[in-house]
Amino acid sequence: MNYTIGIDVGGTKIAGGIVDSEGKIVSRVRRSAPAQDSDLMLAAIAEVINELSAQQETTGVGIALAGFMDKERNRMRLSPNVAWRDIEIRSAIESKVGKPVIIENDANAAAWGEFRFGGGAEADSMVMLTIGTGLGSGVIIDGQLLIGAHGIGAECGHFKVKPDGQLCGCGQRGCLEQYASGQAITRNARVFVASGTPAAQPLLDACGQDPTTLTGAMVTETAQKGDPASISILAEAGKWLGFGMSTIAAILDPEMFVVGGGGGDAGELILAPARVEFELKLPAREHRPIAKITAATLGNDAGIIGAADLARKL
Ligand SMILES: [Zn+2]
Repeated sequence: MNYTIGIDVGGTKIAGGIVDSEGKIVSRVRRSAPAQDSDLMLAAIAEVINELSAQQETTGVGIALAGFMDKERNRMRLSPNVAWRDIEIRSAIESKVGKPVIIENDANAAAWGEFRFGGGAEADSMVMLTIGTGLGSGVIIDGQLLIGAHGIGAECGHFKVKPDGQLCGCGQRGCLEQYASGQAITRNARVFVASGTPAAQPLLDACGQDPTTLTGAMVTETAQKGDPASISILAEAGKWLGFGMSTIAAILDPEMFVVGGGGGDAGELILAPARVEFELKLPAREHRPIAKITAATLGNDAGIIGAADLARKL
């Protein structure tokens, strides 16, 4: 058995694991992330790697990170959650751990994990959409991770679905992320609660009568208990997701869409309306195979498993 290390770096935690060649995590290390200090953060990642390296012979390290990185996967241009601005991350960490390292965008690494060992394992071409606060995505076409000419492609959350629509964190308006993401679900739920309708009582109860604390996870929970308003808020996000998928399919023609994050947790409450809208809006829909829409299966481990598998190519 061959082992590699996978690291998933978030804004609050660094999660690492030793992963075997079948995608199984055999050991884990986790620590908090000193995200506000660039050097401390690099040192913390190296510590996690060195701790794992001491446990088992491993051949390489894959690190999943949020942010825009160069095509060579060395320099981080901008990381939204960590104080990294235009620094060479891969070479800095390699020099601290004495092993070959690859870095990859976290959504791409998670998509690769699902493609190799999770919900997309039976596909050659797959798009993963991860419903978190935003809408992350990773694209694999004919077995290759698509990163684009500058290394920052496959951002399906930021193609426009509504000209002059909601303002997005990327600075543009009307991105898919603004309609099919945790923040969209939360925004719609808060607007609904603020309307004062008696139908919002289950959501008000879920957030302890304080709508500012309402989260997407609470909406999912009340929907799972059968609250019609919460079901409808999730269905709205699912419908937008399916609409977005129909355009993604027009360009990329994947065999499968894998939906992860909170979208995966909500399951059919989001996936069923997404399928309906997808099939309705698919170009030439009666004359083509319909891509499968399914939930991710690796949960929060997808980034670790995907990054570790990418490190197998080192
Ligand atoms: Zn955007």
